[in-house]
Amino acid sequence: MPIDPFEIYAIRYAHLGNRHAGENFLLADPHEYASDLDYFVWVLRRGGTSIVVDTGFGEEAARSRKRELLRSPAATLPLLGLDASAIADVILTHLHYDHAGNLADFPRARFHIQDREVAYATGRGMCHPALRAPFDLSGVLEIVRRVYAGRVEFHDGNTEIAPGLNAYRVGGHSAGLQILRVWTRRGWVVLASDAAHLYAHFEQGRVFPVVYNVEEMLEGYKLLYQLADSPDHIVPGHDPLVMQYYPAARPDLEGIVVRLDCAPKR
Ligand SMILES: [Zn+2]
Ligand SMILES: [Zn+2]
Repeated sequence: MPIDPFEIYAIRYAHLGNRHAGENFLLADPHEYASDLDYFVWVLRRGGTSIVVDTGFGEEAARSRKRELLRSPAATLPLLGLDASAIADVILTHLHYDHAGNLADFPRARFHIQDREVAYATGRGMCHPALRAPFDLSGVLEIVRRVYAGRVEFHDGNTEIAPGLNAYRVGGHSAGLQILRVWTRRGWVVLASDAAHLYAHFEQGRVFPVVYNVEEMLEGYKLLYQLADSPDHIVPGHDPLVMQYYPAARPDLEGIVVRLDCAPKR
């Protein structure tokens, strides 16, 4: 039986400018161009079912980390006709502060995450300030609370979450980072999340400086190409170019929500 395709929406909820190249690339030339970062959460929609991918950060993290919070991800969902409090499934690509905050906005959700990510975020690596820097303790504690409440679905490596929706553990940037392969009307799209912050990372084989294992990060780029129907089917996790390449979900959502199941104009 053919699989029904998902629609994929990327919601841009925050921004960070004024970067230098060394913040985007390991071994950067200090004079080279440094892209800004956009911050996204994603929505997969099929029939009456909507799955949220990542939950973003809130005002406290925006203040303490000096990021520009444009809108609350949960408060933006009504623009797509969705109510965060009714969402049944949330996939967390990893537990960094910008992907796994705001969990209380999703009171009915089951949270899908890799075994390795929860073990990493609560294990010995977090004794090192450099490794725990991208995590917020409050967000990690919220995940542990959901574990004890029976609201976390653990995945170990590659899994089918639903027909046409598969998760693959990449690691690299964080020990249990997972990417998603999603069936759409234009074929298999891969949401790379932080397996590739920018197009430049996977296209040029460059390394983002927040990294747990460089070899896994580079192997992850190969996996992106293997799983996507074409390079144009790979969606990086923080690249402002995503907002330029993909069409707005509706004219009134220009600059806020784009459709990733439409072909990009590159
Ligand atoms: Zn990350
Ligand atoms: Zn991130």
